[in-house]
Amino acid sequence: MDINALLRENIKNFKPYSSARDEYSGSEGVFLDANENSFGSVSAESLNRYPDPYQRELKKKIAELKQTSPEQIFLGNGSDEAIDLLFRAFCRPGRDKVMILPPTYGMYSVCAELNDIEIISVPLNVSFEIDLESVLTKANEDVKLIFICSPNNPSGNVFDKASVRTILENFNGLVVIDEAYIDFSQQAGWLGALSEFENLVVLQTFSKAWGLANARLGMVFADKRIIQILNNIKYPYNVNGLTQNTVLQALERSADKDKMVAEILAQRAVLQNGLERLNIVRDVFPSQANFLLVRFDDARNVFQKLLDQKIIVRDRSKMTRCEGCLRITVGTADENKLLIETLKNMDI
Ligand SMILES: *Cc1c(COP(=O)(O)O)cnc(C)c1O
Repeated sequence: MDINALLRENIKNFKPYSSARDEYSGSEGVFLDANENSFGSVSAESLNRYPDPYQRELKKKIAELKQTSPEQIFLGNGSDEAIDLLFRAFCRPGRDKVMILPPTYGMYSVCAELNDIEIISVPLNVSFEIDLESVLTKANEDVKLIFICSPNNPSGNVFDKASVRTILENFNGLVVIDEAYIDFSQQAGWLGALSEFENLVVLQTFSKAWGLANARLGMVFADKRIIQILNNIKYPYNVNGLTQNTVLQALERSADKDKMVAEILAQRAVLQNGLERLNIVRDVFPSQANFLLVRFDDARNVFQKLLDQKIIVRDRSKMTRCEGCLRITVGTADENKLLIETLKNMDI
């Protein structure tokens, strides 16, 4: 695959903004170059200096953890920034297309619409597996990106490795594998295949397993030429210094993350068990994420009655293949107990 040929013409010739911290990146000196406030800042913490635009320290630590190199990592203001940048780099508005496999994460189509990119939808089958034949026949040269969310939101399953591999081998564009929930899965994910496929883009995030949704930090792992493009077109200081410091500290405590993940997995089993025993529940789909997709006899009624008790779940019943389904995030032991009790006592 020729990454350069895949790029939009304006992006090939794009001259990025050169920030003060691009032109001098040392940490020692008298800094009179960026029009910062040399006297300090109106806050408890010192925030008067612009942050590192390329988050070097953070990428070094993440590279160690993920066994990749810093040049293969892009960090963004959530995964959502990365998704938007991929559209802007590779998809010509009004001309190019992207493929999604519904039911799936909503941001892919939101970004597509925002960028005036046509969406080719190839629905998953009733077992939420990829319809490989349709993907391969519909992925023509107009399609620049295929989004594969694995474990998939909202179905919770991980896709068959052989199918994903066949897509990677046969598609002449970028295959974006969104692994927001990979820490909750028994499967290894696709980072190990980066050197094998130059059209592979893996998205991960600190929002789920690490419990840092508020900090907004998403990761892209890809061929270094793709990472370079994302760096060229991002806002200069896209990840703020508070977030960089917070995540640097979190990375020193990855054992805490592992402990929480173990608790979430244990509670997922408790929740699944409790739900399966209820008369009003028709299906609990197997999950490798921190949520369960649950089919009810009367989902809208259940959703509303839960809401009346101030228990908020996500109604997914309007999505492809999700008739009658609610998506329920795994809560704490107390929260899950309350949910099950409330459902038990529901007269519908
Ligand atoms: C939650 C989620 C994300 C995370 O997005 P951030 O912008 O990093 O918080 C990404 N992809 C999927 C499928 C998700 O469900």
